[in-house]
Amino acid sequence: MKLIKDPQGMHSFSLKAKYRGKTIGFVPTMGYLHEGHLSLVEAARGKSDVVIVSIFVNPLQFGANEDFDRYPRDFNHDKKQLQNFDVDVLFIPSRDDIYQESHRTFVDVEGLSKRLCGISRPALFRGVTTILAKFFNIVSPDFVFMGEKDFQQLLIVRQMVRDLNLPVEVIGLPTVREFDGLAMSSRNKYLSPKERQNAAVLCQALNLGRQEIEKGERDKHKLLLRLRSLVGTIPSIRLDYLVMVDPDTLAEKKDLNGRTLLALAAYFGKTRLIDNILVEAK
Ligand code: AMP
Repeated sequence: MKLIKDPQGMHSFSLKAKYRGKTIGFVPTMGYLHEGHLSLVEAARGKSDVVIVSIFVNPLQFGANEDFDRYPRDFNHDKKQLQNFDVDVLFIPSRDDIYQESHRTFVDVEGLSKRLCGISRPALFRGVTTILAKFFNIVSPDFVFMGEKDFQQLLIVRQMVRDLNLPVEVIGLPTVREFDGLAMSSRNKYLSPKERQNAAVLCQALNLGRQEIEKGERDKHKLLLRLRSLVGTIPSIRLDYLVMVDPDTLAEKKDLNGRTLLALAAYFGKTRLIDNILVEAK
């Protein structure tokens, strides 16, 4: 596995690979890798000739009072994990190489970015789309592999790719979960043992929602109350949102027919976790 720090070096590596007719699969991450990330790497390995993984904790997507400084980092462990997956390049640019002082251009996907997570984290998606637009130019991937765990992010990136005619195919992959259903996340590390145990209630609530819709429940307000009261059994959790929305627009669903995205974000103290599940009412 080659380590590349310099964006120019990364770009010329990719151009050479393309010149030789190779397809490039790209997995952008913020590191502190877990099996969720590795599932993306595995999919990239299966579909592309050359696999490039980036680790970059992107300051632009963190708000002033968020966890940029304490975001978990363990480069040596990440590197070892990736070596087991036959990754061709690990791209680890520095902050200064990515955002020069003169940086003034930002990519903002309107509408979708203002919903759900965009309400309590207004900087998030503008940061994500800006860094990914830059990375797509630097890495020139044919495919980018992203997790459905960040469903809103996936939708926004797909929109950006369409709107800007970016020559990359966005491939979404299912959420990888812990033994008790908790969605894997680098931020799970922040949880105390007690919080970690309690965190399973988040996916239990989503699963209950799915079961009830599949059983025929169509009263959205009644169902939301049930799910919220299940989460409410853990007093240390503060829900940011728990919603049932259209998976294409993220607008509130009026009824529970067709496809519905059940999505939530919740705080344990300062730790904010997200999860979602897609339900199809028959
Ligand atoms: P992050 O390092 O949190 O920015 O995530 C990098 C990529 O990994 C994103 O595309 C995430 O959606 C994806 N990802 C994070 N957690 C999971 C998970 N539990 N299962 C599948 N993909 C995930």
